[in-house]
Amino acid sequence: MTMMKTQLTMPVLMDRGSILAPEVEIVSKMRDRTHRYTYADLGRRARRLADALTKLGVKQGDRVATFAWNGYRHLELYYALPCMGAVLHTLNLRLSAADLEYIINHAEDTVICVDDELLPLLERLAGKIPTVKHIIVMSNSGNKSSVLGPTLDYEELLEGGSEDFSWPEIDENAAMGLCYTSGTTGHPKGVMYTQRSNHLHTISGASIDCLGLSRSDVVMAVVPMFHANAWGLPYICCMMGAKQVFPGATMDGATICQLIQDEKVTFTAGVPTIWLGVMNELQNNPGKYDLSSLKTMLCGGSAPPRAMIDWFETNLGIEFVHAWGMTETSPLGCLNHLKPKMNDWSHEQRLDVKQRAGIVAPGLEIRIVDDAGNEVPHDGVAMGRLLIRGPWIASSYYKDPAPDKFPDGWLDTGDVATIDAEGYMAIADRSKDLVKSGGEWISSVDLENAIMAVPGVAEAAVIAVNHPKWQERPLACVVAKPGATVTKEEIYDYLGKNFAKWWMPDDIVFIESVPKTSVGKFDKKVLRNQFSDFTLPTAE
Ligand code: AMP
Repeated sequence: MTMMKTQLTMPVLMDRGSILAPEVEIVSKMRDRTHRYTYADLGRRARRLADALTKLGVKQGDRVATFAWNGYRHLELYYALPCMGAVLHTLNLRLSAADLEYIINHAEDTVICVDDELLPLLERLAGKIPTVKHIIVMSNSGNKSSVLGPTLDYEELLEGGSEDFSWPEIDENAAMGLCYTSGTTGHPKGVMYTQRSNHLHTISGASIDCLGLSRSDVVMAVVPMFHANAWGLPYICCMMGAKQVFPGATMDGATICQLIQDEKVTFTAGVPTIWLGVMNELQNNPGKYDLSSLKTMLCGGSAPPRAMIDWFETNLGIEFVHAWGMTETSPLGCLNHLKPKMNDWSHEQRLDVKQRAGIVAPGLEIRIVDDAGNEVPHDGVAMGRLLIRGPWIASSYYKDPAPDKFPDGWLDTGDVATIDAEGYMAIADRSKDLVKSGGEWISSVDLENAIMAVPGVAEAAVIAVNHPKWQERPLACVVAKPGATVTKEEIYDYLGKNFAKWWMPDDIVFIESVPKTSVGKFDKKVLRNQFSDFTLPTAE
C-alpha cells in the first residue's frame, strides 16, 4: 500500500480558516481607528491582491518585500504571496538605511509594500534600490506621494484584482518566505523558507507541545511581523481560523493590556521587553484591567527574568511559555511546557524548569557538543554548542552558503546551552557573549537573571571585560527601577547565595538603560564598546 504524494504547500493551510471560519474576526488597531473584518473578507482580499500583483508582473519566485507594522494588510501579504508562489520578504523597519539597502539589493526585491507612515524611513533609500520596480503604499488616507518616484495605492490596486483568482500549482520545494537575521557582525544573512518547510512548521507549531492553538483562541502577535515570521502565528491562525488581533505600531504596556481586555485575547506572544512593560503597567495600576480571558503568554527572543515568569503565573494564573528559536529555525525550536509529573514538584522546582528554554518541537532534534564536536552530558550543568536539525531548519544562507554554520547537516546555532535529564534545554549564552574566565565559561544570562530578581532592579546586562590574569571577567551593568535605590552590596549579597565565588561580577556599574537591538534584545556589542577601556578593580 502506498500513500498519496501530496505537495506540502501553503494554500491548503491558508484557505482553511476562510473556508471553515468565515465569520471569525480579524482586528487591527491602527493609529486613527480600529479596523475589523472577517476571514471571509481576508480570503477574498488575498485573492484580489494575488490577481492584482500578477497583473503587475509579479511571477512565481519573485521577492516582494513588506515594510509594515502588524495589521490586516500585512496579513493579506502573508497570505497572498506564498499562495501565488511568490516570496514574502519581510523587512525589519528598525534597521539602519545601510542595512536595508544591502538587504533589498541582495534579495533583488521587485516590489515593496509599505505602510504610509513608514514611507519616510524608506525614502532614505531613494536612488539606491534599482531592482525595485513598484512601491505600493498601504494608506488609510489615500496619500501616496513619495520621493521614491511613482507609487501605487494598495486599495486601488486591490480594486483591479479579481476574487476568483485560483492559486497556481506550486512545487513544495519552491521558496515562499525570506527573512534576514538581525546578526550583530558582518552583513545580515538571508534565510529562505520553502513551501514545505513552512507547511510542516505550521502544522507542528499548532500542536499542544508547541503553541497549542485552536479555533477557540484569540491570538495577539505582539512580536512584529518583520521578526522571524511573527513566530509562525499568522500562518497557524489562518490554518485554525483563530481570531487574530494586531496591535499596530503601539506596543506599550497600557495598549497591550487594553487590547487583551477589549478583544478577550487568550494567547499572546512577544519578547521579554514587551512583557516587562505589561508587568509594570499592571503593577502600577492594580485592578484597572480585566485580563481574565488570557490563558497563555509566549515569550522568546531572549531570556525572560525568573521573577517575571513567576509574577505572571502567580498573579494572572496564566501559563507563561518560555520558548527559544531563531530566524534560521523558522523560528519554533524549543518550547517550555511542564510535564504532568512536575505538577507535584515545589513552586521553586517548577520555576527552575520554567526558566529553561524548553523541549525540542516535534519534528526536530537538538544536540550539545564541546569544541572538539563531542557530545556533552545532559545533566543540566555541562555547557556545549547547541546544534539543531529538522525540516524547517535552514541548511544554508541565501546566496551565501556559510558551510561552517551548517556542519554535517546540522545548524550550529551560535548559542551555548545545557540540556537537563528531562530534555529541557537552557541557553547559557550566545557564544560571543560568554565570559571566558581562565578557560572556564561563565553564563552572562544566568547572572543577569539573578540580578534582575533583586528588588529595585529593572534591567541588568553582564558583559566580559578584559582582565590581565583571567583574560575575561564579568562586569554587571545595572538599571534601577525609577525611584528605587539599589546598592552594589544588595546585589552581591543576593548573588553570593546563588553562585560560586568565581562567577561573581568583578564590578557592578549603574547605567541609565540597556541599549537594545532592532528586535528589542540587549545589544551587548554597544555595551562592550562603551566599557572597552574599563579597568576592573581586580585588575591591579
Ligand atoms: P533572531 O534570529 O533574531 O530571532 O535571534 C535568535 C537568537 O536569539 C538565538 O540564537 C538566541 O541567542 C536568542 N534567543 C532566542 N530565544 C531565546 C531564549 N528563550 N533565551 C535566550 N536567548 C534566546
